[in-house]
Amino acid sequence: MGADDIGLLRTAAELAIDHVAGVDERAAAPTAAAVAGLAAFDEELTAAGRPAAETLRLLAEVGGPATVASTGARYFGFVTGATLPVALGAAFLTDAWDQNAALPVMSPVAAALHGVVRGWLVEVLGLPGATDVGFVTGATMANAAGLAAARDALLAGAGWDAQADGLFGAPPITVVVGGNAHSTLRKSLGLVGLGRERVLVVPADDQGRMLPDRLPEVDGPVLLCAQAGEVNTGAFDPFEPLADWVAERRGWLHVDGAFGLWALADPQRAHLVRGLVRADSWATDGHKWLNVTYDCGIAFVAREGALRRSFASVAGYLPPDEGFEAMHHTPQSSQRARQIEVWAALRTLGRDGLAELVRRTCAVAAVVAERLAGHGFTVLNDVELNQVLVRPPAPVDAAALAAAVQADGRVWCGPTDWRGAPALRISVSSWKSTPADGAAAADVVAECAASLAAHE
Ligand SMILES: *Cc1c(COP(=O)(O)O)cnc(C)c1O
Repeated sequence: MGADDIGLLRTAAELAIDHVAGVDERAAAPTAAAVAGLAAFDEELTAAGRPAAETLRLLAEVGGPATVASTGARYFGFVTGATLPVALGAAFLTDAWDQNAALPVMSPVAAALHGVVRGWLVEVLGLPGATDVGFVTGATMANAAGLAAARDALLAGAGWDAQADGLFGAPPITVVVGGNAHSTLRKSLGLVGLGRERVLVVPADDQGRMLPDRLPEVDGPVLLCAQAGEVNTGAFDPFEPLADWVAERRGWLHVDGAFGLWALADPQRAHLVRGLVRADSWATDGHKWLNVTYDCGIAFVAREGALRRSFASVAGYLPPDEGFEAMHHTPQSSQRARQIEVWAALRTLGRDGLAELVRRTCAVAAVVAERLAGHGFTVLNDVELNQVLVRPPAPVDAAALAAAVQADGRVWCGPTDWRGAPALRISVSSWKSTPADGAAAADVVAECAASLAAHE
Protein backbone atom coordinates (compact mmCIF):
# COMPACT_ATOMS: atom_id res chain seq x y z
CA MET A 1 0.00 0.00 0.00
CA GLY A 2 1.50 3.28 -1.10
CA ALA A 3 1.61 6.71 0.48
CA ASP A 4 -1.39 7.76 -1.62
CA ASP A 5 -3.52 4.97 -0.25
CA ILE A 6 -2.52 5.75 3.31
CA GLY A 7 -3.21 9.45 2.76
CA LEU A 8 -6.60 8.55 1.35
CA LEU A 9 -7.51 6.62 4.48
CA ARG A 10 -6.29 9.38 6.80
CA THR A 11 -8.45 11.84 4.90
CA ALA A 12 -11.46 9.52 5.15
CA ALA A 13 -10.94 9.10 8.90
CA GLU A 14 -10.68 12.88 9.34
CA LEU A 15 -13.86 13.42 7.36
CA ALA A 16 -15.64 10.80 9.45
CA ILE A 17 -14.49 12.39 12.68
CA ASP A 18 -15.47 15.88 11.48
CA HIS A 19 -18.95 14.57 10.74
CA VAL A 20 -19.29 13.13 14.22
CA ALA A 21 -17.88 16.26 15.84
CA GLY A 22 -20.34 18.54 14.04
CA VAL A 23 -23.50 16.48 14.14
CA ASP A 24 -25.17 18.36 16.99
CA GLU A 25 -24.68 21.67 15.18
CA ARG A 26 -26.67 20.42 12.21
CA ALA A 27 -30.39 20.17 11.64
CA ALA A 28 -31.77 16.82 12.75
CA ALA A 29 -32.75 16.04 9.15
CA PRO A 30 -31.08 17.10 5.91
CA THR A 31 -32.34 20.24 4.19
CA ALA A 32 -34.30 19.92 0.95
CA ALA A 33 -31.32 21.45 -0.83
CA ALA A 34 -28.99 18.76 0.52
CA VAL A 35 -31.37 16.02 -0.60
CA ALA A 36 -31.72 17.64 -4.04
CA GLY A 37 -27.91 17.76 -4.16
CA LEU A 38 -27.84 13.95 -4.26
CA ALA A 39 -28.47 14.32 -8.00
CA ALA A 40 -24.71 14.88 -8.23
CA PHE A 41 -24.34 11.11 -7.83
CA ASP A 42 -26.16 10.53 -11.14
CA GLU A 43 -22.99 9.96 -13.11
CA GLU A 44 -22.08 7.59 -15.89
CA LEU A 45 -20.01 4.61 -14.80
CA THR A 46 -16.76 5.20 -16.60
CA ALA A 47 -14.63 2.53 -18.22
CA ALA A 48 -11.38 3.80 -16.77
CA GLY A 49 -12.61 4.68 -13.28
CA ARG A 50 -11.90 7.92 -11.46
CA PRO A 51 -9.46 8.99 -8.75
CA ALA A 52 -10.14 7.51 -5.32
CA ALA A 53 -9.53 10.80 -3.50
CA GLU A 54 -12.11 12.53 -5.66
CA THR A 55 -14.57 9.70 -5.01
CA LEU A 56 -14.28 10.12 -1.26
CA ARG A 57 -14.52 13.89 -1.56
CA LEU A 58 -17.72 13.58 -3.58
CA LEU A 59 -19.13 11.18 -1.01
CA ALA A 60 -18.34 13.52 1.86
CA GLU A 61 -19.45 16.72 0.15
CA VAL A 62 -22.66 15.45 -1.40
CA GLY A 63 -23.52 12.49 0.80
CA GLY A 64 -22.63 13.91 4.20
CA PRO A 65 -25.09 16.84 4.18
CA ALA A 66 -27.87 14.46 3.06
CA THR A 67 -27.49 12.19 6.07
CA VAL A 68 -30.08 12.09 8.83
CA ALA A 69 -28.48 13.28 12.07
CA SER A 70 -29.65 10.21 13.94
CA THR A 71 -26.39 10.08 15.87
CA GLY A 72 -27.17 13.50 17.36
CA ALA A 73 -28.91 14.45 20.59
CA ARG A 74 -32.13 15.74 19.02
CA TYR A 75 -33.20 12.84 16.84
CA PHE A 76 -36.20 11.05 18.34
CA GLY A 77 -37.45 9.16 15.29
CA PHE A 78 -38.52 5.51 15.05
CA VAL A 79 -36.47 3.74 17.74
CA THR A 80 -33.16 4.78 16.27
CA GLY A 81 -30.09 4.61 18.46
CA ALA A 82 -27.06 6.83 18.05
CA THR A 83 -23.46 5.60 18.27
CA LEU A 84 -21.33 5.49 21.39
CA PRO A 85 -17.87 6.90 20.55
CA VAL A 86 -16.21 3.68 21.65
CA ALA A 87 -18.52 1.68 19.38
CA LEU A 88 -17.62 3.85 16.40
CA GLY A 89 -13.93 3.55 17.24
CA ALA A 90 -14.26 -0.23 17.46
CA ALA A 91 -16.13 -0.15 14.13
CA PHE A 92 -13.23 1.74 12.51
CA LEU A 93 -10.79 -0.91 13.68
CA THR A 94 -13.09 -3.81 12.87
CA ASP A 95 -13.64 -2.48 9.35
CA ALA A 96 -9.92 -2.06 8.87
CA TRP A 97 -9.34 -5.61 10.05
CA ASP A 98 -12.07 -6.90 7.70
CA GLN A 99 -12.39 -10.15 9.58
CA ASN A 100 -14.70 -12.90 8.49
CA ALA A 101 -16.29 -13.93 11.79
CA ALA A 102 -17.70 -17.14 10.34
CA LEU A 103 -15.13 -19.45 11.93
CA PRO A 104 -12.42 -19.15 14.59
CA VAL A 105 -9.82 -20.18 12.04
CA MET A 106 -10.81 -17.17 9.93
CA SER A 107 -10.76 -14.75 12.86
CA PRO A 108 -9.49 -15.85 16.25
CA VAL A 109 -10.16 -12.36 17.63
CA ALA A 110 -13.80 -12.42 16.54
CA ALA A 111 -14.29 -15.87 18.06
CA ALA A 112 -12.61 -14.92 21.33
CA LEU A 113 -14.64 -11.74 21.68
CA HIS A 114 -17.81 -13.62 20.85
CA GLY A 115 -17.14 -15.87 23.81
CA VAL A 116 -16.49 -12.93 26.11
CA VAL A 117 -19.48 -10.89 25.01
CA ARG A 118 -21.82 -13.87 25.13
CA GLY A 119 -20.97 -14.30 28.79
CA TRP A 120 -21.36 -10.60 29.53
CA LEU A 121 -24.69 -10.30 27.72
CA VAL A 122 -26.12 -13.31 29.49
CA GLU A 123 -24.89 -11.95 32.82
CA VAL A 124 -26.07 -8.38 32.40
CA LEU A 125 -29.50 -9.44 31.10
CA GLY A 126 -29.84 -12.26 33.64
CA LEU A 127 -30.57 -14.90 30.99
CA PRO A 128 -29.94 -18.61 31.64
CA GLY A 129 -26.19 -19.19 31.80
CA ALA A 130 -25.87 -21.54 28.81
CA THR A 131 -27.90 -19.33 26.45
CA ASP A 132 -26.48 -19.32 22.91
CA VAL A 133 -25.96 -15.99 21.18
CA GLY A 134 -25.84 -15.26 17.46
CA PHE A 135 -25.17 -11.88 15.86
CA VAL A 136 -27.30 -10.98 12.85
CA THR A 137 -28.36 -7.87 10.94
CA GLY A 138 -31.15 -6.65 13.22
CA ALA A 139 -34.15 -7.68 15.25
CA THR A 140 -36.01 -8.86 12.14
CA MET A 141 -33.32 -11.48 11.55
CA ALA A 142 -32.86 -12.12 15.26
CA ASN A 143 -36.57 -12.87 15.47
CA ALA A 144 -36.28 -15.10 12.40
CA ALA A 145 -33.35 -16.95 13.98
CA GLY A 146 -35.24 -17.52 17.24
CA LEU A 147 -38.38 -18.58 15.37
CA ALA A 148 -36.39 -20.99 13.19
CA ALA A 149 -34.87 -22.54 16.30
CA ALA A 150 -38.36 -22.78 17.85
CA ARG A 151 -39.82 -24.35 14.70
CA ASP A 152 -37.09 -26.99 14.46
CA ALA A 153 -37.13 -27.83 18.18
CA LEU A 154 -40.93 -28.10 18.35
CA LEU A 155 -41.03 -30.29 15.26
CA ALA A 156 -38.15 -32.44 16.50
CA GLY A 157 -40.26 -32.98 19.62
CA ALA A 158 -43.06 -34.18 17.34
CA GLY A 159 -40.70 -36.56 15.55
CA TRP A 160 -40.09 -34.41 12.47
CA ASP A 161 -36.74 -33.23 11.13
CA ALA A 162 -37.60 -29.88 9.57
CA GLN A 163 -34.05 -29.18 8.40
CA ALA A 164 -33.93 -32.41 6.44
CA ASP A 165 -37.54 -32.64 5.31
CA GLY A 166 -38.90 -29.09 5.28
CA LEU A 167 -42.39 -28.12 6.35
CA PHE A 168 -44.58 -29.82 3.74
CA GLY A 169 -46.31 -32.66 5.55
CA ALA A 170 -44.91 -31.65 8.95
CA PRO A 171 -47.11 -31.73 12.06
CA PRO A 172 -48.70 -28.27 12.40
CA ILE A 173 -47.34 -25.77 14.91
CA THR A 174 -49.86 -23.34 16.38
CA VAL A 175 -48.33 -19.88 16.27
CA VAL A 176 -49.76 -17.32 18.69
CA VAL A 177 -48.94 -13.60 18.52
CA GLY A 178 -50.11 -10.49 20.33
CA GLY A 179 -52.45 -7.97 18.74
CA ASN A 180 -49.68 -5.37 18.88
CA ALA A 181 -46.81 -7.51 17.63
CA HIS A 182 -44.30 -5.49 15.62
CA SER A 183 -45.01 -5.47 11.89
CA THR A 184 -41.69 -7.16 11.14
CA LEU A 185 -42.56 -10.15 13.32
CA ARG A 186 -44.94 -11.31 10.58
CA LYS A 187 -42.13 -10.95 8.07
CA SER A 188 -39.88 -13.10 10.23
CA LEU A 189 -42.64 -15.70 10.60
CA GLY A 190 -43.09 -15.74 6.82
CA LEU A 191 -39.37 -16.08 6.28
CA VAL A 192 -39.13 -19.25 8.37
CA GLY A 193 -42.16 -20.80 6.68
CA LEU A 194 -44.59 -20.41 9.57
CA GLY A 195 -46.75 -17.95 7.66
CA ARG A 196 -47.55 -14.30 8.20
CA GLU A 197 -51.31 -14.88 8.50
CA ARG A 198 -51.38 -18.43 9.87
CA VAL A 199 -51.42 -17.11 13.43
CA LEU A 200 -53.83 -16.84 16.34
CA VAL A 201 -53.95 -13.27 17.58
CA VAL A 202 -54.33 -12.52 21.29
CA PRO A 203 -56.10 -9.19 21.89
CA ALA A 204 -54.11 -6.46 23.60
CA ASP A 205 -54.97 -3.86 26.22
CA ASP A 206 -54.80 -0.08 25.77
CA GLN A 207 -51.00 -0.12 26.04
CA GLY A 208 -50.58 -2.96 23.55
CA ARG A 209 -49.95 -5.69 26.15
CA MET A 210 -51.30 -9.16 25.44
CA LEU A 211 -54.32 -10.06 27.58
CA PRO A 212 -53.28 -13.40 29.09
CA ASP A 213 -56.86 -14.46 29.86
CA ARG A 214 -57.52 -14.28 26.13
CA LEU A 215 -54.92 -16.90 25.22
CA PRO A 216 -56.52 -19.49 22.93
CA GLU A 217 -57.25 -23.17 23.47
CA VAL A 218 -54.60 -25.09 21.56
CA ASP A 219 -53.50 -28.65 20.88
CA GLY A 220 -50.10 -29.92 19.87
CA PRO A 221 -46.88 -27.96 19.37
CA VAL A 222 -47.30 -24.27 20.20
CA LEU A 223 -45.11 -21.23 19.67
CA LEU A 224 -46.05 -18.06 21.55
CA CYS A 225 -44.45 -14.83 20.32
CA ALA A 226 -44.43 -12.15 23.00
CA GLN A 227 -42.95 -8.70 23.08
CA ALA A 228 -40.74 -6.66 25.40
CA GLY A 229 -41.24 -3.06 24.33
CA GLU A 230 -44.24 -2.21 22.15
CA VAL A 231 -42.90 0.06 19.44
CA ASN A 232 -45.26 2.96 20.24
CA THR A 233 -45.86 2.70 23.97
CA GLY A 234 -42.80 0.74 25.14
CA ALA A 235 -45.17 -1.64 26.97
CA PHE A 236 -44.15 -5.15 28.03
CA ASP A 237 -46.31 -8.25 27.73
CA PRO A 238 -47.14 -9.94 31.06
CA PHE A 239 -44.45 -12.60 30.78
CA GLU A 240 -45.20 -14.51 33.97
CA PRO A 241 -48.67 -15.77 32.92
CA LEU A 242 -47.48 -16.20 29.32
CA ALA A 243 -44.54 -18.35 30.45
CA ASP A 244 -46.89 -20.42 32.66
CA TRP A 245 -49.23 -20.99 29.72
CA VAL A 246 -46.36 -22.09 27.47
CA ALA A 247 -44.84 -24.32 30.16
CA GLU A 248 -48.15 -26.14 30.69
CA ARG A 249 -48.23 -26.91 26.97
CA ARG A 250 -44.53 -27.72 26.67
CA GLY A 251 -44.36 -25.07 23.99
CA TRP A 252 -41.80 -22.43 23.06
CA LEU A 253 -41.90 -18.80 24.21
CA HIS A 254 -40.12 -16.34 21.94
CA VAL A 255 -39.77 -12.67 22.88
CA ASP A 256 -39.22 -9.79 20.47
CA GLY A 257 -37.27 -7.35 22.61
CA ALA A 258 -35.74 -5.26 19.83
CA PHE A 259 -35.16 -2.40 22.25
CA GLY A 260 -37.05 -3.41 25.40
CA LEU A 261 -34.84 -6.39 26.22
CA TRP A 262 -32.21 -3.96 27.52
CA ALA A 263 -34.60 -3.05 30.35
CA LEU A 264 -33.35 -6.31 31.91
CA ALA A 265 -30.10 -4.47 32.60
CA ASP A 266 -31.77 -1.91 34.86
CA PRO A 267 -32.80 -3.18 38.31
CA GLN A 268 -35.24 -0.26 38.56
CA ARG A 269 -37.30 -1.78 35.77
CA ALA A 270 -37.65 -5.24 37.34
CA HIS A 271 -41.42 -4.84 37.62
CA LEU A 272 -41.72 -4.59 33.82
CA VAL A 273 -39.63 -7.63 32.98
CA ARG A 274 -40.93 -10.12 35.56
CA GLY A 275 -40.90 -13.59 33.94
CA LEU A 276 -39.12 -12.37 30.81
CA VAL A 277 -36.07 -14.55 31.43
CA ARG A 278 -38.30 -17.66 31.42
CA ALA A 279 -38.59 -17.52 27.62
CA ASP A 280 -36.85 -19.97 25.29
CA SER A 281 -35.54 -17.34 22.88
CA TRP A 282 -35.19 -13.57 22.68
CA ALA A 283 -34.33 -11.11 19.95
CA THR A 284 -32.82 -7.69 20.39
CA ASP A 285 -30.94 -5.00 18.54
CA GLY A 286 -27.53 -3.57 19.26
CA HIS A 287 -28.15 -0.67 16.89
CA LYS A 288 -31.14 0.68 18.80
CA TRP A 289 -30.79 1.19 22.54
CA LEU A 290 -27.23 -0.09 22.98
CA ASN A 291 -26.04 2.59 20.53
CA VAL A 292 -23.69 0.59 18.33
CA THR A 293 -23.54 1.18 14.56
CA TYR A 294 -25.73 -0.53 11.95
CA ASP A 295 -26.31 -3.27 11.54
CA CYS A 296 -26.43 -5.35 14.66
CA GLY A 297 -29.12 -7.70 15.89
CA ILE A 298 -28.70 -10.34 18.57
CA ALA A 299 -30.49 -13.68 18.80
CA PHE A 300 -30.51 -15.50 22.14
CA VAL A 301 -31.63 -19.11 22.44
CA ALA A 302 -31.69 -20.77 25.84
CA ARG A 303 -32.17 -24.34 24.69
CA GLU A 304 -28.81 -25.95 24.24
CA GLY A 305 -27.92 -26.83 20.68
CA ALA A 306 -31.07 -25.30 19.19
CA LEU A 307 -29.34 -22.56 17.19
CA ARG A 308 -26.87 -25.13 15.94
CA ARG A 309 -29.62 -27.53 14.90
CA SER A 310 -31.17 -24.82 12.74
CA PHE A 311 -28.07 -23.18 11.32
CA ALA A 312 -25.24 -25.71 11.09
CA SER A 313 -24.35 -25.85 7.44
CA VAL A 314 -22.92 -29.35 7.64
CA ALA A 315 -25.26 -32.31 7.91
CA GLY A 316 -24.46 -34.43 10.93
CA TYR A 317 -22.46 -31.53 12.30
CA LEU A 318 -20.80 -32.08 15.66
CA PRO A 319 -20.11 -29.38 18.23
CA PRO A 320 -16.55 -28.12 18.03
CA ASP A 321 -14.09 -28.81 20.81
CA GLU A 322 -13.00 -25.22 21.05
CA GLY A 323 -14.10 -21.87 19.67
CA PHE A 324 -17.48 -20.61 18.60
CA GLU A 325 -18.36 -21.24 14.98
CA ALA A 326 -20.67 -18.37 14.09
CA MET A 327 -21.53 -19.73 10.66
CA HIS A 328 -23.05 -22.79 12.33
CA HIS A 329 -25.19 -20.72 14.74
CA THR A 330 -26.58 -17.94 12.51
CA PRO A 331 -28.36 -17.65 9.15
CA GLN A 332 -25.17 -16.19 7.61
CA SER A 333 -22.00 -17.97 6.62
CA SER A 334 -19.51 -15.17 6.04
CA GLN A 335 -20.29 -12.37 8.46
CA ARG A 336 -19.01 -9.15 10.00
CA ALA A 337 -17.69 -9.35 13.54
CA ARG A 338 -20.63 -7.44 15.02
CA GLN A 339 -19.75 -8.69 18.50
CA ILE A 340 -16.68 -6.46 18.61
CA GLU A 341 -18.67 -3.23 18.91
CA VAL A 342 -21.01 -4.81 21.44
CA TRP A 343 -18.01 -5.94 23.45
CA ALA A 344 -16.50 -2.43 23.29
CA ALA A 345 -19.78 -0.84 24.39
CA LEU A 346 -20.30 -3.22 27.31
CA ARG A 347 -16.68 -3.07 28.44
CA THR A 348 -16.81 0.72 28.49
CA LEU A 349 -20.25 1.12 30.05
CA GLY A 350 -19.97 -1.68 32.56
CA ARG A 351 -23.07 -3.06 34.26
CA ASP A 352 -23.84 0.26 35.94
CA GLY A 353 -23.23 2.31 32.81
CA LEU A 354 -25.65 0.15 30.83
CA ALA A 355 -28.30 0.45 33.54
CA GLU A 356 -27.67 4.18 33.61
CA LEU A 357 -28.07 4.46 29.82
CA VAL A 358 -31.47 2.79 30.12
CA ARG A 359 -32.47 4.93 33.09
CA ARG A 360 -31.26 8.19 31.63
CA THR A 361 -33.10 7.77 28.33
CA CYS A 362 -36.26 6.75 30.19
CA ALA A 363 -35.90 9.85 32.39
CA VAL A 364 -35.61 12.05 29.29
CA ALA A 365 -38.77 10.42 27.92
CA ALA A 366 -40.53 11.31 31.18
CA VAL A 367 -39.39 14.93 30.80
CA VAL A 368 -40.73 15.04 27.22
CA ALA A 369 -44.08 13.60 28.30
CA GLU A 370 -44.48 15.93 31.26
CA ARG A 371 -43.54 18.98 29.26
CA LEU A 372 -45.88 18.11 26.38
CA ALA A 373 -48.70 17.48 28.85
CA GLY A 374 -47.98 20.96 30.19
CA HIS A 375 -48.41 22.27 26.63
CA GLY A 376 -51.87 20.68 26.46
CA PHE A 377 -50.91 17.47 24.64
CA THR A 378 -52.58 14.17 25.53
CA VAL A 379 -50.04 11.56 26.58
CA LEU A 380 -51.45 8.24 25.33
CA ASN A 381 -49.03 5.83 26.97
CA ASP A 382 -47.78 5.05 30.45
CA VAL A 383 -44.26 6.43 30.06
CA GLU A 384 -42.38 3.60 31.77
CA LEU A 385 -39.70 3.23 29.15
CA ASN A 386 -38.10 5.42 26.47
CA GLN A 387 -41.19 5.89 24.29
CA VAL A 388 -43.62 8.80 24.41
CA LEU A 389 -46.87 8.66 22.44
CA VAL A 390 -48.88 11.87 22.25
CA ARG A 391 -51.65 13.69 20.44
CA PRO A 392 -51.62 17.46 20.07
CA PRO A 393 -54.50 19.55 21.38
CA ALA A 394 -57.35 20.13 18.89
CA PRO A 395 -57.55 21.17 16.14
CA VAL A 396 -54.01 20.08 15.25
CA ASP A 397 -53.62 16.74 13.49
CA ALA A 398 -50.71 14.59 14.72
CA ALA A 399 -49.57 13.61 11.22
CA ALA A 400 -49.54 17.24 10.10
CA LEU A 401 -47.66 18.12 13.25
CA ALA A 402 -45.02 15.45 12.57
CA ALA A 403 -44.51 16.89 9.09
CA ALA A 404 -44.20 20.40 10.53
CA VAL A 405 -41.66 19.30 13.14
CA GLN A 406 -39.62 17.53 10.47
CA ALA A 407 -39.71 20.60 8.24
CA ASP A 408 -38.65 22.79 11.14
CA GLY A 409 -35.53 20.65 11.46
CA ARG A 410 -34.47 21.43 15.02
CA VAL A 411 -35.63 18.04 16.23
CA TRP A 412 -36.95 14.96 14.48
CA CYS A 413 -39.81 12.71 15.48
CA GLY A 414 -42.32 10.79 13.46
CA PRO A 415 -46.00 10.03 13.14
CA THR A 416 -47.54 6.70 13.98
CA ASP A 417 -50.96 5.20 14.03
CA TRP A 418 -52.45 4.44 17.44
CA ARG A 419 -55.82 2.75 17.71
CA GLY A 420 -56.87 3.95 14.28
CA ALA A 421 -55.83 7.59 14.55
CA PRO A 422 -52.58 9.47 14.00
CA ALA A 423 -50.29 10.14 16.93
CA LEU A 424 -46.80 11.48 17.43
CA ARG A 425 -44.08 9.19 18.73
CA ILE A 426 -40.96 10.43 20.46
CA SER A 427 -38.38 7.73 21.09
CA VAL A 428 -35.44 8.57 23.32
CA SER A 429 -32.80 6.09 22.18
CA SER A 430 -29.63 8.16 21.92
CA TRP A 431 -26.97 8.04 24.63
CA LYS A 432 -26.52 11.75 23.96
CA SER A 433 -30.00 13.07 24.71
CA THR A 434 -30.11 14.96 27.99
CA PRO A 435 -33.16 16.13 29.95
CA ALA A 436 -32.47 19.60 28.49
CA ASP A 437 -32.64 18.13 24.97
CA GLY A 438 -35.93 16.48 25.92
CA ALA A 439 -37.39 19.71 27.26
CA ALA A 440 -36.20 21.66 24.21
CA ALA A 441 -37.67 19.02 21.89
CA ALA A 442 -41.03 19.21 23.65
CA ASP A 443 -41.01 22.99 23.32
CA VAL A 444 -40.21 22.80 19.59
CA VAL A 445 -43.06 20.31 19.09
CA ALA A 446 -45.44 22.54 21.04
CA GLU A 447 -44.31 25.60 19.10
CA CYS A 448 -44.96 23.83 15.78
CA ALA A 449 -48.40 22.78 17.04
CA ALA A 450 -49.22 26.34 18.07
CA SER A 451 -48.19 27.63 14.68
CA LEU A 452 -50.35 25.03 12.92
CA ALA A 453 -53.29 25.91 15.17
CA ALA A 454 -52.83 29.61 14.35
CA HIS A 455 -53.16 28.80 10.65
CA GLU A 456 -56.27 26.67 11.05
C1 LIG B 1 -37.21 -2.21 15.40
C2 LIG B 1 -38.02 -3.38 15.80
C3 LIG B 1 -37.98 -4.57 15.08
C4 LIG B 1 -37.18 -4.71 13.81
O1 LIG B 1 -35.83 -4.48 14.07
P1 LIG B 1 -34.76 -4.26 12.90
O2 LIG B 1 -33.50 -4.06 13.65
O3 LIG B 1 -35.20 -3.05 12.14
O4 LIG B 1 -34.75 -5.47 12.05
C5 LIG B 1 -38.71 -5.64 15.56
N1 LIG B 1 -39.45 -5.54 16.67
C6 LIG B 1 -39.51 -4.40 17.40
C7 LIG B 1 -40.33 -4.37 18.65
C8 LIG B 1 -38.80 -3.28 16.99
O5 LIG B 1 -38.85 -2.15 17.70
